[in-house]
Amino acid sequence: MVQLSIWEKETFFAPQDVVIVGSGFAGLWSALKLVEKKPDQKITILERGIIPTGASTRNAGFSCFGSPTELLNDIAALGEEKTFELVSLRYRGLAEIREYFTDEEIGYDASGGYECFTDDTADWQLCTEKLNWLNKKLRPITGKATTFSIADKKLEEFNVKGFHHLIENKLEGGLHSGKLVKALLQKVQSMGVQVFTNIEVLNYQQQNGRIEINTNLQINLSTSQLLLCTNAFTKQLVPGIDIIPNRGQVLITSAIDNFKIKGTFHFDSGYYYFRNLGNRLLIGGARNKAMKEEETTTMETTALVQNELERFVRLHLLPGTVFTITDRWSGIMAMGSEKLPIVKTIDQNVFCCVRMSGMGVALAPVVAGQVVDLMESIRIKRENSR
Ligand SMILES: Cc1cc2nc3c(=O)[nH]c(=O)nc-3n(C[C@H](O)[C@H](O)[C@H](O)COP(=O)(O)OP(=O)(O)OC[C@H]3O[C@@H](n4cnc5c(N)ncnc54)[C@H](O)[C@@H]3O)c2cc1C
Repeated sequence: MVQLSIWEKETFFAPQDVVIVGSGFAGLWSALKLVEKKPDQKITILERGIIPTGASTRNAGFSCFGSPTELLNDIAALGEEKTFELVSLRYRGLAEIREYFTDEEIGYDASGGYECFTDDTADWQLCTEKLNWLNKKLRPITGKATTFSIADKKLEEFNVKGFHHLIENKLEGGLHSGKLVKALLQKVQSMGVQVFTNIEVLNYQQQNGRIEINTNLQINLSTSQLLLCTNAFTKQLVPGIDIIPNRGQVLITSAIDNFKIKGTFHFDSGYYYFRNLGNRLLIGGARNKAMKEEETTTMETTALVQNELERFVRLHLLPGTVFTITDRWSGIMAMGSEKLPIVKTIDQNVFCCVRMSGMGVALAPVVAGQVVDLMESIRIKRENSR
């Protein structure tokens, strides 16, 4: 065990009210909501990377709440009620992000979102059949009469090839995930939250009504409440939890002259997604080409998926254009037997806010609010029973 000085013990490593594990979107939004609820709380975030190292800084930065095929697939799998509950959480989450931060702070680009379809596929048939119904169902959530509209004419404007239909969602946009994480980090730190990086939580024990946390640095911390925001990595701390890690791979090109694609785009039930970042093309997905291999927490790219993404770019997005790929990366999402997040008590005074199912940009602000309400109600109950 590291021998801490009295000064260190009484400041940095003093007993905490709340320790949060993980500084991705879920951890940062939870910290923010906890301080807002009770500003005098001592809160520490423990992050094992030097920056958040999971999905939050490694995604595609879509500010989206569900494309038509995604929603129809979800309805088939989850039912209507849960599907629209998820949409509502995502829509409210996206609105909240823009209430806390200016568009400039988070690189928000309100260019709209699209779903692409090839030919008269079954997906396209179903979407056109159900589009009015979907719009009606979304009205109470978005407040708009029409969320989705057919925009086939724009295909030419974007200069994409091999797609025959387009559905537009003007409420969708893109943001800069790095800027959003940084803005959140700065905000919580300015509100007194202590953030330690490069420190991994190995396990925890209950001790006299408090939680003792063991870390890889052999520095232990004591806390009244522990919140796990470890998403795809939660199984290391809670082995039985219903989480399957899913890797998402991405690539980005250098700037392209006369680049026409503008907005965020989904294809093949969301298995492919691409957007412009200025005049560069960012594309991710193709996880469905190697489902089993991509169920991993290993953060690397693979030739199979990257080659498939490049093939897709050449065929549909930049045919005949010479382009250079400047960066490739991957991030790890958390899926499970169902798509709703897990927000619950997992042990006495231990909580989790995990399994964002590839939607955490949008979901995190609202589900963080839910876990904080749960933690607060238990804290107040405990104080009243003393
Ligand atoms: C390629 C890709 C594309 C995506 N596209 C979108 C999108 O368009 N829209 C959308 O809404 N969402 C998208 N997502 C999903 C979104 O990024 C995630 O849902 C969200 O970032 C999850 O946030 P989180 O805080 O729950 O998890 P994470 O960001 O993974 O954070 C968990 C943190 O916990 C830390 N940690 C884990 N274990 C420990 C430990 N024992 N001790 C200390 N620290 C630990 C990790 O280092 C990590 O920083 C995408 C994800 C990927 C990978």
